[in-house]
Amino acid sequence: MRLIPCPLFIGGEWIPSSLVGTPVHNPSTGDVIAECPAGGAAEVNAAVDAAEAAFPAWRDTPAVERARVFFRYRQLVEENFDLICRCVSREHGKTHAEARGSVFRGLENIEYACGVPSLLFGDNLENLARGVDCETILQPLGVCAGITPFNFPAMVPLWMFPLAIACGNTFVLKPSEKVPLTANLLVELLQKAGLPKGVINIVHGGRPCVDALLTHPKVKAVSFVGSTPIAKYIYETGTRNGKRVQANGGAKNYIVVMPDADIPKTVEALSTAAFGCAGERCMAGSTAIAVGAAAERVLPSLVEAARAIRVGPTDREAQPDMGPVISAQHRERVATLITTGEIEGATVACDGRRVRVAHEPRGFYIGATVVDNVLPGTTLAREEVFGPVLNVMRMEDLDHAIEMANRSSFGNGAAIFTRSGGAAREFKSRVKAGMVGINVGVPATMAMFPFTGWSDSFFGDLHIQGREAVQFYTQQKVVTTRWFGGDVGDVWKK
Ligand code: NAD
Repeated sequence: MRLIPCPLFIGGEWIPSSLVGTPVHNPSTGDVIAECPAGGAAEVNAAVDAAEAAFPAWRDTPAVERARVFFRYRQLVEENFDLICRCVSREHGKTHAEARGSVFRGLENIEYACGVPSLLFGDNLENLARGVDCETILQPLGVCAGITPFNFPAMVPLWMFPLAIACGNTFVLKPSEKVPLTANLLVELLQKAGLPKGVINIVHGGRPCVDALLTHPKVKAVSFVGSTPIAKYIYETGTRNGKRVQANGGAKNYIVVMPDADIPKTVEALSTAAFGCAGERCMAGSTAIAVGAAAERVLPSLVEAARAIRVGPTDREAQPDMGPVISAQHRERVATLITTGEIEGATVACDGRRVRVAHEPRGFYIGATVVDNVLPGTTLAREEVFGPVLNVMRMEDLDHAIEMANRSSFGNGAAIFTRSGGAAREFKSRVKAGMVGINVGVPATMAMFPFTGWSDSFFGDLHIQGREAVQFYTQQKVVTTRWFGGDVGDVWKK
């Protein structure tokens, strides 16, 4: 099979790479479809130099003109929507519906960036003191970098570069080496929208590339999304090297089900939250905490729903309910964690480990799994699985359920299903997570709201998306002005 080219993009030119890299798979078939070049310091230096050279002219381009590039980009992404979604499905394994949903979330971030002239408004106060006025101005930082994970090949890069660039910065993107092709396609379209050369650049590779970005003196800010150990490393190394860093990490999101919850709707939401995108979501609702009688009411329907999920290839017209996970290695990790859960006393109520897709024996498939009676403190209760596995824990009341959720070292999302306003209010107030859903299973925020992970799910001060991201990608200047009245005053009087 001919491999899909995966060039770097530096200074407005596609650079074919002869660097030996890592294979990119189609998870539906197990085939190698491309090779992601293993760039390092030389490639990063070239990309940062190009971004730095493009910065002065781009910074001085009026915000309305910068916004116009993103209006055109929005149009191009919409026109090429199916192509982008197919690319996501092919290299990541999302179903078409999941790919569409995720690219649409990315599109909303482009739309948010189109509003940049209003987002860059400063404040001012006339007559701060007699004859003295004061104003704040938001100015871009310079060269910003983005390092992204495999699980949202379009959406996560779109969380970063549209707003960073619309704010007047230039950008170097380092996508996940597991899914580099969608990022290349997105950048190709941005270039077609009329972005000047060098404003966006792509380098491909793994740790050597990342380290070169983190230590490069000309890189002013780094946005990162990925697993917690790497997020922590990025934050510590980036800040030690004088950069602004926002680093989103992994997650373990708890969903509390109260006995008064609407059971059919709750089961539907839990199933989507746990098994959507094969569980490879930082906002996956991976652990249900059933309170009191809720377990007996919800578990049979959950198991039934999980058993009904058809797993299969996502790279063709007929679509399954759920696609593969990203790699054979990841499938083994997920299966091993389920086995560990069993050893630690849990019961596998629906077992996806044995699922096989007959016509695609080399694809990376694992079926929807429900593990009941997961005990506090065990591996499944603590660790992010990042696969289609729903843990069920049982607690006697809401207090214990909140306490359980709050024992997590992560703090991305949490949700409650109930008909009681009082229970929802209590949960909303006390749960230690940055994004909370009330009868909403995946409370992932949209472009205009910050993606507010807490604890080990986020390292930094200003989150990705929304106004916080505008603050992240700009620095404030406060200008205090006084005009000496004497001579000018005389002119006025004449
Ligand atoms: P990952 O941490 O393995 O990789 C993320 C990025 O870091 C990639 O670009 C990769 O090349 C780079 N990287 C990997 N190892 C590195 C190292 N040792 N040194 C420097 N750079 C390194 O994450 P992943 O497996 O691609 O993505 C899944 C993880 O991302 C999950 O933990 C998931 O929860 C998390 N995630 C979080 C959010 C969020 O907003 N909180 C969103 C999506 C995904």
